[in-house]
Amino acid sequence: MRSLWNDQEAKQFQGDLGLRVYTSRLLGRDKSLVLHGGGNTSVKIREKNLFGEQETILYVKGSGWDLETIEPQGFSPVLLAHVLRLAELPSLSDPEMVNQLVTHMLDASAPAPSIETILHGLMPQKFVDHTHADAVLSVSNTRDGDKRIREVYGNRCVVIPYLMPGFDLAQYCAREFKRQGTPETVGMVLLNHGIFSFGENAREAYERMIELVTLAEKYLESRRAWSIALKSSPRSAPGAAAQAGLRRRLCDAAGAPLIVRTVTNERTLGFAAHPELARISQKGPATPDHVIRTKRTPMLGSDVAGYAEGYRRYFDEHAPRAKEPKTILDPAPRVVLDPAFGLAAAGRTAKDAAIVAEIYDHTIDVILRGEALGGFQALPAKDVFDVEYWDLEQAKLKKGGKALPFAGEIALVTGAASGIGKAAVAAFLARGAAVVGLDLDAKIESLHSRGDFLGMSCDVTDETQVRSALEKAVLAFGGLDMLVLNAGIFPASRKIADLPIAEWRKAMNVNLDANLLLMRTCHPLLKLAPRGGRVVVIGSKNVPAPGPGASAYSASKAALNQLARVAALEWGADGIRINTVHPNAVFDTGLWTEEVLGQRAKQYAMTVEEYKTNNVLKTQVGSRDVAELAAEMCGALFAKTTGAQVPVDGGNERVI
Ligand code: ZN
Repeated sequence: MRSLWNDQEAKQFQGDLGLRVYTSRLLGRDKSLVLHGGGNTSVKIREKNLFGEQETILYVKGSGWDLETIEPQGFSPVLLAHVLRLAELPSLSDPEMVNQLVTHMLDASAPAPSIETILHGLMPQKFVDHTHADAVLSVSNTRDGDKRIREVYGNRCVVIPYLMPGFDLAQYCAREFKRQGTPETVGMVLLNHGIFSFGENAREAYERMIELVTLAEKYLESRRAWSIALKSSPRSAPGAAAQAGLRRRLCDAAGAPLIVRTVTNERTLGFAAHPELARISQKGPATPDHVIRTKRTPMLGSDVAGYAEGYRRYFDEHAPRAKEPKTILDPAPRVVLDPAFGLAAAGRTAKDAAIVAEIYDHTIDVILRGEALGGFQALPAKDVFDVEYWDLEQAKLKKGGKALPFAGEIALVTGAASGIGKAAVAAFLARGAAVVGLDLDAKIESLHSRGDFLGMSCDVTDETQVRSALEKAVLAFGGLDMLVLNAGIFPASRKIADLPIAEWRKAMNVNLDANLLLMRTCHPLLKLAPRGGRVVVIGSKNVPAPGPGASAYSASKAALNQLARVAALEWGADGIRINTVHPNAVFDTGLWTEEVLGQRAKQYAMTVEEYKTNNVLKTQVGSRDVAELAAEMCGALFAKTTGAQVPVDGGNERVI
């Protein structure tokens, strides 16, 4: 492992806090050191307070910040003197510890300081860096990990047996640091947890971390336990319906919709095909930090129902030991390994699922290396339980607020790059859904750069492209719960007598045939939606009230309307609801070019302005109005409604 320190880069950061930001980011850049909000760093700085008195402030990483992207305001400034007084107490409960730290910060708007704050405060050095380095865990999480770690580090690191993070651990570390520490001591290894390094300046603490982790890497290399080859035999992928079926079983076990991300590559396939998978994958997490980040123990569960059953037993076994009654977390596994697809990672949001996938990718390394060293060993189940059902974590869950209505669900929107489709993407994302957007226009691919959006350019009239897009969607998110059929074309105004057959066929192909194709392809997935599938058709006022010059459009939308009504009848038994919105005069869409707008206005002998508000309410209807209604139709309000047609047109005399 190389130091990423760069003098030029470092110059851009001022003072001790600035350099604390810089080296924290360097640690965060290397995913084999810390993952997603894991790890923490601190610096002790002498400052003058409002009264002109000197005091030492412990700047420690605040919760909710990621080392890779941390800013100065991501560090919580805590009065060190108070931290050290707290450390003298015979005992301190976790909630009181958090309360004491939060009430002794210099900035009321700073984030809550890390749970490892007291430990940072007790270490005498100015800079303290803490990671959950894969290489260190690989050596430590073995049958004789204690002995091996001492062999790697000698006098350079104090070695601490596993204790749950918090007050007791901080006190224990301080005692052991005094007892075991020597002039050569530059770090501390917490077995089955991670490693600390210390320094008088930012660079020293950081480069000691790199040096200490490199020692563990070298140790593993010398014992042929560094890079482990995996053998995978190529198999045929299970396909979208099978993965959606797996997601359904996971959702049933969890009692709530989940996003499931499938990661199929040589590594995950090879690990899933490991001859001793059942033994090595069931031992537990690499570090308690991973349990906190994934909100659950990432464990194998190819037999989802069996796993959930086992998890309930695990809860019953350990819950009675707890001081306070606990609420069982959902018993669905967060990781599924299968030689057919490799790894599937589950979470309540797309972000959670991505974190689980990344953490497990590193866990694979730790397990394989530990096995090569003579046997991977995780924490005993009771210690894992204590972290999983930690008071602080349970409090966070209770405080977590109302989940968004579509959390864990997946929506697909066609024609999603502009107009009503683009607004629908926003409406579903705002309600917590992961969204797949399809559009002929390649700009869909960069419509949003966030983990819960997947944009793909796709010609919805082409069955091969539609199938391929759906397969990618299912790999990314696990299945399909909601479908918004929006893509459509509005040909230029033309009388029937002058209508070329090619124009008619094109309207039919895009507005009707493509939607049949989408509905047919999506049906097996919608059937598996844990809360029942939902389809919203973006129809048109032209269905109940057609206009002259728009025969191809009106006829294609009317046929689509009838198709949706038949689908409501056929799919009710599968728990799928299908409803239609009939917008009119939505002018902020891709369909309405100036030319078409002018033609239509002329048709009705109006100005363009009159034409835009030509409705009973004399109001303009926007893409957002239609999109919000479409999203609501997928929600609880319309739970008992199928086959309905709702106008969103400001009121139209011919329709009313
Ligand atoms: Zn830690």
